[in-house]
Parts: sequence; C-alpha cells; structure tokens
Amino acid sequence: MASNAIFIHHSDSSGYKFGEEHPFDPLRLMLTIDLLKEVQALSEEQMEAPPAYSEDELLPLVHRTDYLAAVKQLSEQALLEDSSTLARQFGLHTEDTPYFPGMHKAAVTIVNGSVAAADAVMAGRTKHAYHLAGGLHHAFPDRASGFCVYNDAAVAIKHIRQTYGAKVLYIDTDVHHGDGVQWVFYDDPDVCTYSIHETGKFLFPGTGFVHEKGVDHGFGACYNVPLEPYTEDESWLESFNVTLRKVIAAFEPDVIISQHGCDAHAYDPLSHIHCSMRIYAEIPAIIHELAHKHTDGRWIALGGGGYDIFRVVPRAWSLVWLTMIDHPIAQAIAAGEAPLLPDSWLKRWASISPLELPSKWLDDRADIEPMPRRAEITDKNRVVQRIVIQDI
Ligand SMILES: [Zn+2]
Repeated sequence: MASNAIFIHHSDSSGYKFGEEHPFDPLRLMLTIDLLKEVQALSEEQMEAPPAYSEDELLPLVHRTDYLAAVKQLSEQALLEDSSTLARQFGLHTEDTPYFPGMHKAAVTIVNGSVAAADAVMAGRTKHAYHLAGGLHHAFPDRASGFCVYNDAAVAIKHIRQTYGAKVLYIDTDVHHGDGVQWVFYDDPDVCTYSIHETGKFLFPGTGFVHEKGVDHGFGACYNVPLEPYTEDESWLESFNVTLRKVIAAFEPDVIISQHGCDAHAYDPLSHIHCSMRIYAEIPAIIHELAHKHTDGRWIALGGGGYDIFRVVPRAWSLVWLTMIDHPIAQAIAAGEAPLLPDSWLKRWASISPLELPSKWLDDRADIEPMPRRAEITDKNRVVQRIVIQDI
C-alpha cells in the first residue's frame, strides 16, 4: 500500500547559504521541521533523504553545460583571480546571488530532492510528496538569478516529462513571478505554468504579465495572474480560485507541482502584497482538493521564497504538510478554529527571533493592519482575473 505523503529532506540543503546577512536563510528549514516535530506531525518514517542521482543526466535537462562548468568552478575554495569575470558572465556576481564555496553541491542536493519527490509520486509510492528546500524558480538555463542557482522545479518537470510522459501543471504562489520555470517550458504544450504574484510593474523579476501566454505549440499553456501591491487575503484568494480552477479543468494535468514561496505575507520584507497566514492555510487546501479531483492525488509540493523566517515561514510551510496529511491542526483551521502554536517551540526560538513570535497558527485580524484603497485594488485584480480566463 502506497503511503499518503512523503517528506523529502537532506541536511546538506542547509549548505545553500549566500552569507550571514543574506535574506535567503536555510534556518527556515530547521524552524519548520522543528515545528512539525513539536506537534508530532512528522515522523522519521515519513522523512526520506533523496538519492544521489547522476548529475550529468539531470542538470543538462535544463542547464547549459558552460553554466554548469562555471558554477562548479566558482564553488571551489581556492578561487582563481579572474573569477569575478566568470561570475559576472553567469549572474553570480550580484548582491542577490553571489557565488559561495560549496554552491554546486548544495544546489545539486536541492535538485535531487525535487526529483526524488517527483519520482516518489510518479512511481506510485505515494500520492503526495513535499520538498521544503526546493522551489528555486528564478534560475535560468544559462545563469543564476534571484537567489536561485539551479532550477530544481524545472529539472523535476523535465524529468517527469522524459521518464513518465505525464502532463504537468506547475502552480507558483510565490510573491515573485516564477520566471525561470515559465521560460523553460514556454513552447511546451504538455507543461502548463501558472504563476500568481505581485505585478512585475513594482517587483522583481519584472515579468509575469497577463499577455505572457506561451509561444508556438505552448501558446495557451502559460498563465500569469499579476496582482496589485497591497492586495489582501480576500482578493488574493478570489483571484487564485477564479483563475486556477478554470486552468486546471481546461488543461487536464496528470500531476501538479506547486511552489510554496510564502513571501506574499504582510510581514515579508521583500514585497508589498499584504496577506495574512490565512492564504497559507487555504492555498494547500485548494491544491490538495484539486489534486484529488483532477490528478488522482498526484501532487508534489516545493518550498520557495519567504523572508520573515521566524514569524511567517515555519507556520506557512508547516501548513502545507499538515494539509497534505490531513492533520487535526489543518482540520481545525478549516473548521474556523484558531489553534495555538506549541509553547515549547515558541520558547525555544523566542530568544533568537528579532521580533515577537505569533502565538497562533493563523494571524489575528488585529495583527495585520487593513489597507486603504481596498475596493480599488479588488477591482483592479478582477480586471486581471477576467483577462486571464477570457479565452479558457
Ligand atoms: Zn519570492
């Protein structure tokens, strides 16, 4: 009997770290796993480390060989004097994505994790698989971008196409447009990319507009839902429900891969969307429902962005897993209750967290300041919804 859900994790993914001051902090992984263990929602039997796949087979599915060679070279401790020229050429000499020792190995570990999650689901060992460290959606075939070196999501999708021939729906709810994955599959009619994010008019990477719909045979297998800055829960969830349900019914995928960046939260320092933890309870619930309705349950979930690492990420990422396994906490939230976070977890991390930790799984209404112009923002998002679904 196949188990219901598998949690893929490798401790080496914590080596994916750009530096002490960089916002992309692997401590997020530990905080989330610690929280899940604290509520007894994650057992050793459910956790699996990915196998070491053949790099030479997997990485070139997406990445160019000259880029791979550069990443390997820049990962060596003893850097050559001309390394900055090489780094600049491949997007690894920026403040966002600077090269670091061990970068190749850590990024490969993350790719392996997402491919292992894909294999577990596609081979029928489990219905759902979750790989927290994955979701590095900005990496391009020939360059690093936006904290992302290798595009694990795109590699996993290519692997699914090549090995299982399944039609893939990629759902990206990170506040930043899932550009790297979109462009890799832009002409592919069997991979549908869907991204809901803060409009590129104001936020990195500056793309993801409604008119980006794919090219050649891939036209119509790419959807973008760019939202207004300061969008709140209700309008965010309306935009997601109205568009995603149409897309999945029309595309009829065999499997869903979702990217769970949780940087659309009002506390996130890198964006302007103003949502609460409510959307991070509802997003996995909606995707879970859609997976059972449309893909026989086949669902692979990945992590992604999220830069309020104490107050937002552990709760949001735990909720993906709690939803996957139908945990009582997820059920209580769905029933409208307001369960508390475990005291022991709060005590353990309170002294390290720079800000006061929330006491509940969901935010209280009073915690998130309401936005002026709500009606105007909701109207603008409705215009986007209408354009997105008009031809479906
Ligand atoms: Zn992001």
